[in-house]
Amino acid sequence: MECPECGSLIEEAPLAVCNECWGPLQVKQDYETVKDSLKKREIKNREQSLWRYLELLPIKESRFIVNLGDGWTPLTRCQRLERELGVKELYIKNDALNPTGSFKDRPASVGVSKALEFGFNVVGCASTGNLAAATAAHAAKAGVKSFVLIPGNIEPNKVVQSAAYGAKILQVEGTYDAANRLGILASEIFNWALLNINLRPFYVEGSKTLAYEICEQLDWNTPDRVIIPMGSGALLNSFYRGLADLEKIDFIDNSKDVKITGAQPKGCSPIVDAFHTNNRISPVKEPKTICKSLAIGEPASGKQAIKVIRETGGYADAPSDEEIIEAEKILASREGIFAEPAGAITLATLIRLIDNGVVEGDEKIVLLVTGSGFKSLEAAQKTVGKPVKIPANIDALREAVENG
Ligand SMILES: *Cc1c(COP(=O)(O)O)cnc(C)c1O
Ligand SMILES: [Zn+2]
Repeated sequence: MECPECGSLIEEAPLAVCNECWGPLQVKQDYETVKDSLKKREIKNREQSLWRYLELLPIKESRFIVNLGDGWTPLTRCQRLERELGVKELYIKNDALNPTGSFKDRPASVGVSKALEFGFNVVGCASTGNLAAATAAHAAKAGVKSFVLIPGNIEPNKVVQSAAYGAKILQVEGTYDAANRLGILASEIFNWALLNINLRPFYVEGSKTLAYEICEQLDWNTPDRVIIPMGSGALLNSFYRGLADLEKIDFIDNSKDVKITGAQPKGCSPIVDAFHTNNRISPVKEPKTICKSLAIGEPASGKQAIKVIRETGGYADAPSDEEIIEAEKILASREGIFAEPAGAITLATLIRLIDNGVVEGDEKIVLLVTGSGFKSLEAAQKTVGKPVKIPANIDALREAVENG
């Protein structure tokens, strides 16, 4: 592992911060070895999960891999939206189709596998909901115990789902940030592998596979822009690291030409605000948004996210809850993709960027849809019509159809 801030190198360990300077530790990759063993031609025939890129993931022995069929989700061309919005090429990477319904299966699959490789027999996380379910499911498959720390106000479906997988759920009074702080203490007191705390450097590697898959699905070409939802900023950073990996092994040659664009809801947008004001990130004490998955007031990877957005010539924007709910409806009714608000935020952002001229019509754009609409049905319920109730006879049916 290495520290990008001070350059120190350390032995691999379940540790997230550098002992010398408190910088965020990263996994160090040996690209020469990867180049020798990973060939485009050969990847094509590998299994259809994120583990097809094993050489680029931080697991040494494949017997520790916990795989629910994570990743290798569809990249869908959206021709109806292209016409409606006036965009040349638009794709959705539909990560709502992962085993537990969100992209968090990627980091959870890698994180739980790494926990087993380190020899832990308890795993866990602090979560806004989706990571809890993903961690719990992979722990169940691995046969290890799991503890998840969640904030007080997340969607009931996410809590039920995590419980069904058998996790011990600790619902902390307060925000995600309160749950996360308690998680940091827990990782020091108990011998737990907390995926986004002491295993954070390994866990974030799982999300790099989103970049690998999109480039492979575009025949090893890159899009001009990718729009990514941000909570802590970890996903956005991992995506960029994934592109950089592909460049280092000569699979692509233009990682910096992909305009990485971040999205946060207006009611909790500390990263977007800092991007526009050039100030340091100031924490949001009480996030207020329908995007529960993105309600993180103190984004752990926010500073790095801003750097990536600047380096790639990307952008950052924060649509309102109303715009996000509208986008959720458009996505479902035009493309047949049912997303949770935190997933639909990328379409809401694209619509704003077209309206204000940041995005012009000739781009090839990918929107990440990171979570399923089933995760937060109450958000969708607000916008859809009610069923027409009819008695079970043909006259009533005819009348209902004729009334539209
Ligand atoms: C976790 C999550 C994100 C991104 O979160 P980061 O903390 O920035 O990695 C995006 N969408 C959904 C649905 C999520 O659950
Ligand atoms: Zn350091």
